[in-house]
Amino acid sequence: MLLIMEKETLVELARLVGGDDAAKVMRLLISKPGVVDEQIAKKLNMDVREVRKLLHKLNSIGILYYELARDKKTGHRIFKWYVQEEQATGFIISNMQKIKERLLEKLRAEESNQFYWCGTLGHPRLLFDQAIEHLFKCPVCKKSMEPHENKDLIEALRRRIEEIEKALTEMMEARRPEVAEKAE
Ligand SMILES: [Zn+2]
Repeated sequence: MLLIMEKETLVELARLVGGDDAAKVMRLLISKPGVVDEQIAKKLNMDVREVRKLLHKLNSIGILYYELARDKKTGHRIFKWYVQEEQATGFIISNMQKIKERLLEKLRAEESNQFYWCGTLGHPRLLFDQAIEHLFKCPVCKKSMEPHENKDLIEALRRRIEEIEKALTEMMEARRPEVAEKAE
């Protein structure tokens, strides 16, 4: 079983890969494992070719799989689609770990450096050496740069890292029983 946050992450991942329609398809797949592409198209009021394109796109990043079956009435081959839960969770965990690493690096940089800034959002914050080179004038707007008080930023980074760590722990614990079952 996927955790709620894993479901939401998968939906967001699908949105990144194939836009809003892909997100809708993913949501449906999560709630109805084994759904056939024609049913998806009908339910979401989409063109079945478009649905297939999205399914293959999502399949190409390894978070879906399908089973081939035969339609009982028509005898035609049909594709039943599923979320590859184990892979999906692994994918989410490794991505969250990468994000956490990046945030930790940023946190270390913020804690151990003094930045200089003009105060306008989107304008660069420079380290002392760089700020000297620019004579403490913002390279974008030329206003003078002051030491940036980054306590709030540091606090926000710490909170975000904590959240991710908590989410990672939950996901790992949710996975553990499954792994144990398979080992038996
Ligand atoms: Zn500026």
